[in-house]
Amino acid sequence: MEKKQELYRGKAKSVYETDDADHYIMLYRDDTSAFDGKVIKQLDRKGKTNNHFNFFIMKKLEEAGIPVHVEKMLNDTECLVKKLEMVPVECVVRNFCAGSICRRLGVEEGLELKQPTFEFFLKNDELHDPMVNDSHIISFGWGTQEQIDKMKELSFKINEVLKALFDKAGLLLVDYKLEFGLYHGQLMLGDEFSPDGCRLWDKETRKKLDKDRFRQGLGGVIEAYEEVARRIGCPLD
Ligand code: ADP
Ligand code: UDP
Repeated sequence: MEKKQELYRGKAKSVYETDDADHYIMLYRDDTSAFDGKVIKQLDRKGKTNNHFNFFIMKKLEEAGIPVHVEKMLNDTECLVKKLEMVPVECVVRNFCAGSICRRLGVEEGLELKQPTFEFFLKNDELHDPMVNDSHIISFGWGTQEQIDKMKELSFKINEVLKALFDKAGLLLVDYKLEFGLYHGQLMLGDEFSPDGCRLWDKETRKKLDKDRFRQGLGGVIEAYEEVARRIGCPLD
């Protein structure tokens, strides 16, 4: 498939049109951002690591019956995906407390939840991705009740698949962010699942092996992503 012009340059990936109206090429760059794009740094091997990581996870999810946008890895940093009409919200599932929920509710990092929580955030960097609810989504026309129900159902199903996958590798899936979109009317998982958009801790030591290493200046960011990939059996070449 032929790569055409860049359509959208996000904080970490670029989206290209192709000669096929139903597909995009997604390029994973080395850019790493935090705090709604206020901090941006290039991290060697990050694009490649996240492209391989995402492809591996998306294929596992597909095997488990989740509809996903990923079709084919084209090279180390590029992936062919279905062109989706994105629902402009982020779906966050949490098994343990960390990040914004600690600030919002004054709870300790590491508190294990009695059951997983689900939250919607509007994708809007200028407004710092405010939390929104089902009613906002319907009233503003960002999505329908049916799409909301499906996003929740798929997000929780993904939790079961991925908690088990990471558990086998001695890792705790603390939380993660998902984005969904429509492909000819069918809701499917889009964007990316990588240590950039989730929190993963070593089960024994609780060492952070995700983007919090970048946010908190802990160093060894890509080395941690590579360690997770190795532990779950995800090839990086
Ligand atoms: P951001 O926009 O948050 O800075 P990225 O740099 O990751 O994020 O850019 C990727 C963009 O592509 C995101 O806006 C995401 O919603 C969008 N996207 C992800 N998957 C698809 C897809 N299959 N079709 C269309 N857009 C997509
Ligand atoms: N997340 C993300 N993109 C965002 C906001 C959050 O990928 O724009 C991920 C984040 O990495 C974490 C989860 O979603 O795994 C929950 O994030 P939280 O609400 O705690 O916000 P944070 O404090 O990380 O900004």
